[in-house]
Amino acid sequence: MNATEELEQVAKEVSVCTKCMLHHSRKLAVPGEGPINAEIMFIGEGPGFHENEQGRPFVGAAGKFLEELLGKINLKRTDVFICNVVKCRPPGNRDPLPEELEACSQYLERQIQALNPKAIVTLGRYSLAHFLPNAKISNVHGQAMQVRGRLVVAMYHPAAGLHQRSLMTTIEDDFKRLPELIAKATQVRESQEPAAPEKSEPKQLSLF
Ligand code: URA
Ligand code: SF4
Repeated sequence: MNATEELEQVAKEVSVCTKCMLHHSRKLAVPGEGPINAEIMFIGEGPGFHENEQGRPFVGAAGKFLEELLGKINLKRTDVFICNVVKCRPPGNRDPLPEELEACSQYLERQIQALNPKAIVTLGRYSLAHFLPNAKISNVHGQAMQVRGRLVVAMYHPAAGLHQRSLMTTIEDDFKRLPELIAKATQVRESQEPAAPEKSEPKQLSLF
C-alpha cells in the first residue's frame, strides 16, 4: 500500500471505528485532511461541534484563527495536513479521556508514518502529550524538539489564544518562528545523513 492509499485506509477505518465510547455520540468521525506531500502536520485535540457536523478538522472559530496564523507564514490550509489526537468529538467538548487517547493513537501513528512530515506541530496539551507525556506546554512551546527521530514543535491550542489575549501573541510569535525551525532542522538532518534510526524511548532533546 502506498502512502496515499494508507491515509485513505485510515480515514475509512476511522469513519466506522468503534474502538472507544466516543463512537456512540459522534455524528461524523474526523480523520484529518491535507495533501500527501504536506511538509507540516498540525495535530489538534479533537473535533468540536462544527467538525463533528462536517467531518472535517478545524472548521470552526479555532480553524479560522489557525488559517490566519498559517497565512502569516505564507501557507494556506491546503498546503498542510491537519488532524487531531482523537478523531471523534468528545460530548460537550470535554477533554478526551486516557482510554480514548490510547484507543485512537494508532490511527495518528499510521498517519504520521504515511505522511512522513518534515515537522509536526502539536496544538494544545493533549497533542503534546502524545509525543512528550511529561512536558509542560508553558515550558516547551515554540521550541523545536526531536522525538523518536521527528521534529516536533509544540504550540498552544488556537482556541486558547481566542480565549486569552496574551496567549494569542505568544501563538503568533511561535508560528512566525516555524519556517526557521524547520529550515534549521532540515540542515541538521542533511548534515547527519544517513540518520541513525531512533530506537530508544521517547526523549526530549531541545535542538535550538
Ligand atoms: N479544535 C481541535 O482541537 N480540533 C479541531 O478539529 C477543531 C477544534
Ligand atoms: Fe475510534 Fe478514535 Fe473515534 Fe474512538 S475516537 S471511536 S478510537 S476513531
